[in-house]
Amino acid sequence: MGQQRIEQMVRDLLLEDTLPQSLLLTGPEGTGKALFAVDIAARLNCEAEKDRPDGTCPACRKVGRLEHPDLHLVFPVPSGDWEKSMPTIIESRREDFYARGEFGGRAQSIGIGSIRKVIETVSKHPFEGRRTVVIIFDAHLMTVEAQNAFLKVLEEPPPSAVLVLVTEFPDKLLDTVLSRCQHIRFDYLGREAVGSFLETFYSVEGKEAKRISILSEGNLRRGIRFLDEGFARIRADAASLLRVVFVGKGRDLLGESERIAREYNRDEVRTLIDEMAVLARILMRQQALVASMEEKKLLEEMIGSKMAAAGLKRDLTADLGKMDGALKSMSKNADLELTLSHLLLDLAGKWY
Ligand SMILES: [Zn+2]
Repeated sequence: MGQQRIEQMVRDLLLEDTLPQSLLLTGPEGTGKALFAVDIAARLNCEAEKDRPDGTCPACRKVGRLEHPDLHLVFPVPSGDWEKSMPTIIESRREDFYARGEFGGRAQSIGIGSIRKVIETVSKHPFEGRRTVVIIFDAHLMTVEAQNAFLKVLEEPPPSAVLVLVTEFPDKLLDTVLSRCQHIRFDYLGREAVGSFLETFYSVEGKEAKRISILSEGNLRRGIRFLDEGFARIRADAASLLRVVFVGKGRDLLGESERIAREYNRDEVRTLIDEMAVLARILMRQQALVASMEEKKLLEEMIGSKMAAAGLKRDLTADLGKMDGALKSMSKNADLELTLSHLLLDLAGKWY
């Protein structure tokens, strides 16, 4: 849904039986590439249709539940115990495809052990379907050793195998890996696509789906996250922080930084700053007179009409730069409360 160009291309390739066996799906987070990778496995094994999954046959259903014996998923895991960690992560993704953070903040990678297992798997015939499909999620986290071990199979996969690498960061892969894969680039979905996805698959009521689709900026994963309660709290706090910044009382700013650092973990604070940036971008579109009526209404609902008016007078490009800077220092493990108070004071112009 929302990726018609890619959808059509893959259907044509399947009808002609010329789908390349080593695929690299790239594009920003939330554009549906991981879901599409799974969809390819359904297409290749659907018992009813050849070019698109009917979604209801036993093969499609098993793929949909990530339980098809010829669908093999590889995720980055903490190094050292991939054999134990991999089933854990697969189990968790079966429950929630967009689950994250199974291993907390531990560094994860795809090591040579996982890739050797893939090579062994694809050397065998499919178990019950037509094709064996291996999906490597966050493929850029393959170690150099793993990538090198993978080269030969990527160059010439066994006839029944299709290898799908999924990553936001193809630049981090070796050139030798890149050159062996057919690249498929995903772009942001339109807002409408996110909205109708939520209505269709998550039974979100039309008006709410529209609101979420605006705030998701065409990012499907973000749209889905809007549905959980923890995220609603983050979203509300992002709005309240913007209000505090616009009013600009030093003491409130410090109080809020302290509260946020106490109530949220690092990932959540990053999400919170991301959400502040989304609101700032809506303000910016309003400044440029390209915001829709719905965007304007939504913003007023979230931060109040007085604050929205105050926001319009700001240098929002500078604001967004500051938010971006805070996100960068947080990824370098900077102190949460300190980074946040710097950001808020800086945004409020209280920083000397
Ligand atoms: Zn099917």
